[in-house]
Amino acid sequence: MAKPVVTRFAPSPTGYLHIGSARTALFNWAYARRHGGKMLLRIEDTDRERSTEAAVHAIFDGLTWLGLNWDDEPIMQFSRAERHAEVTRELLARGHAYYCYCSPEDLALMREEARAAGRPPRYDGRWRDRDPSEAPAGVAPVIRIKAPQEGEIVVEDHVQGKVVFKAENLDDFIILRSDGTPTYMHAVVVDDHDMDVTHIIRGDDHLTNAARQIVIYNGMGWKVPEMAHIPLIHGPDGAKLSKRHGALGVGAYRQMGYLPEAMINYLARLGWSHGDAEILSMQQLVDWFDLNDLNKGAARFDFVKLESINGHYIREGKPDRLYEVMVATATEAGRDADAKGLAENKKTVLAALPELQPRAKTVLELIDLAQFIYSTRPLSIEPAADEQLTAIARANIGEFAEILRGVNDWSIPAIDAAARAFAESKGLKLGKVAQPLRAALTGRTVSPGIFEVMVLIGKDETLGRLSDQAIRS
Ligand code: GLU
Repeated sequence: MAKPVVTRFAPSPTGYLHIGSARTALFNWAYARRHGGKMLLRIEDTDRERSTEAAVHAIFDGLTWLGLNWDDEPIMQFSRAERHAEVTRELLARGHAYYCYCSPEDLALMREEARAAGRPPRYDGRWRDRDPSEAPAGVAPVIRIKAPQEGEIVVEDHVQGKVVFKAENLDDFIILRSDGTPTYMHAVVVDDHDMDVTHIIRGDDHLTNAARQIVIYNGMGWKVPEMAHIPLIHGPDGAKLSKRHGALGVGAYRQMGYLPEAMINYLARLGWSHGDAEILSMQQLVDWFDLNDLNKGAARFDFVKLESINGHYIREGKPDRLYEVMVATATEAGRDADAKGLAENKKTVLAALPELQPRAKTVLELIDLAQFIYSTRPLSIEPAADEQLTAIARANIGEFAEILRGVNDWSIPAIDAAARAFAESKGLKLGKVAQPLRAALTGRTVSPGIFEVMVLIGKDETLGRLSDQAIRS
């Protein structure tokens, strides 16, 4: 029987959960879920200088926000250092590793000589077959793996195909440092083996590492897991993804007002496809995900596409849930007035949301659109809206406000009828009356239908806001 599928996401906690890492996590998650297996989480915290507790939390938070749940307890790589050392001792015992007593000066000289001779600066294997009795006194040795000196190492990759590395290009790399700590290269192999990982899905920046890691697997006689090295995400211009292009932490996207399901949908489509499906749920992703459909070419990050997908999920979102996200986003962004306004006007915001949703692409835009509900008088008017408030428009606003004062049935049809009659009496199109009203009532040029706005904020507030603009004419 085939072993149950086990994937792993193995981030280094040295910064925020980068958007590219989130996509790697997503593919590992989708593959594990597709096959009823497990996705494990391993925090690669062996770089003690650069690893931080805050970054570990950013990883947990980011994955949780995206809904990428992992199985079992997260493994902290550093806590397994003793096991990593144990495997190096076993490799020594098997004759697949050896102590190297080179001093930093020896290594510097070796590099220097290689450079002078036009060779790449690799370790030359000088302690490979030397008797440890020749070891200089007082030098703490490192342990190096014996890499094959001829032939090839082949990475059979689900995305890259068969990738061949010439043995002569791989040197005897260090697996245990002189202070007894494992190198990254070694720790990854021991952990993947001990965690029963069947599929390694990660960025293609690890492809040459894969060849080195295979040397360790072979030394231990362990089965090499299946591998899929996915192309990295590039900017829209094809260059390496920069901050400006979207190389941000997952938390930054939450703060910018993206919904997790939109992020998942967008990231899934970035380098993977299923027919022409653009909009897909997590369940469809799980049902359809296949390593063979991963693209070989670099994916290009496209903010416009992400926004449009986010807009889709905002349009489709349930008002209750969107309301909660708006409050959380406003709070997190330190927009206290918005957080307070939203909290105090929940009912009105919920009633307005179906009108706001089609007009917003991000949660921040939803918040901006909801502001008219709790803005306090006199409203601040955006410049574009202010242009609508010409002297004539302000005079009309004053006149129409008087008419509205007499409207007792404060409903959309009644207000609509009053507005039409007013426009007709002035020989104006309804829009000519409505746009300045919108400016006066919301301070903006975009809002829900203007009669809807009046009903949402109520008659008193409507008359108040109109008079604020009318009197300045
Ligand atoms: N810790 C590595 C990284 O963050 C990933 C290692 C791996 O997936 O094998 O790039």
